[in-house]
Amino acid sequence: MSGRGAGPDDLAPPWRGGRVTPVARCVLATNPGPMTLDGTSTWVLGAPGAGPAVVVDPGPDDDAHLDAVLRAATDEHGGVACVVLTHHHADHSAGARRLAGTAAGATGVPVPVRAVRADLRVADGRGLVDGDELPCAGARLTVLATPGHTADSVCLLLRPPDGPAALLTGDTVLGRGTSVVAHPDGDLGDYLATLDRLARVVEDEDVDLLLPGHGPVLEDPSPVLAHYRSHRRHRVEEVAAAVRAGATTPAEVVAVVYPGLAPELRAPAERSAAAALALLAGFGEAGLGDAEPGGVGPGDAGHSGARADGVGRDA
Ligand SMILES: [Zn+2]
Repeated sequence: MSGRGAGPDDLAPPWRGGRVTPVARCVLATNPGPMTLDGTSTWVLGAPGAGPAVVVDPGPDDDAHLDAVLRAATDEHGGVACVVLTHHHADHSAGARRLAGTAAGATGVPVPVRAVRADLRVADGRGLVDGDELPCAGARLTVLATPGHTADSVCLLLRPPDGPAALLTGDTVLGRGTSVVAHPDGDLGDYLATLDRLARVVEDEDVDLLLPGHGPVLEDPSPVLAHYRSHRRHRVEEVAAAVRAGATTPAEVVAVVYPGLAPELRAPAERSAAAALALLAGFGEAGLGDAEPGGVGPGDAGHSGARADGVGRDA
């Protein structure tokens, strides 16, 4: 979910997808909305002509979109080697089985779907474990386990032979606003640790581009990640203040922190508030301030997005 108005990229024009780097093309799904921003970004990875593509997040089970994805993979790469899911949410995963089946039917070669969750894998697709190297023609593609937005969230580090690396972030970092941590599947402590880790990866691997699951690509990753952290810190502090004022349930927190929130944003806001409450409960008597040095501080635990200023992201 995003908090429009909060990000460094608020003025970015509408995202339309297309070729972004020599080894990454976005095919944008036509499912824009409050929770999906410009629509789901399906990523077709690999050097054109070097072999079948890796397709990340096929998106919704939509004829026109899946046709466009398959066409991009076929025209430039000769087909699909495998499908990879950054996490289980339907706006990323619902089209995976059909895309893999259609792609396999076109060439006679099985196309696996690889995912953290076993119920989403297809055609003997294996799981995704931190450090896995995926077979991507003309680039290195490495799995980073990055739980938080969901328990099964991964990011993918894309390193071409020459030039800077890119990081596919799924819903962990979005192209606009901020992401949502949907309690209880999502975990705010995990999410904060993930943001710290991504900041280190950006430094260590010379990442100069984030390729999110929704919204425009982000060309300056370090400030974006710093903004995400400070946003979370601010949100958790707001929730802590609401608790001190007597709020005890997610609904009560939302009523205090986001008075006048549009009804359609209340449910995601309450999931986020629940994530913050769980984090605060974990701090217990120690209190917010004492937890900061641990890294998962009060820091940001915010939740995410569903802010009156914001537009949400996925459910
Ligand atoms: Zn999601």
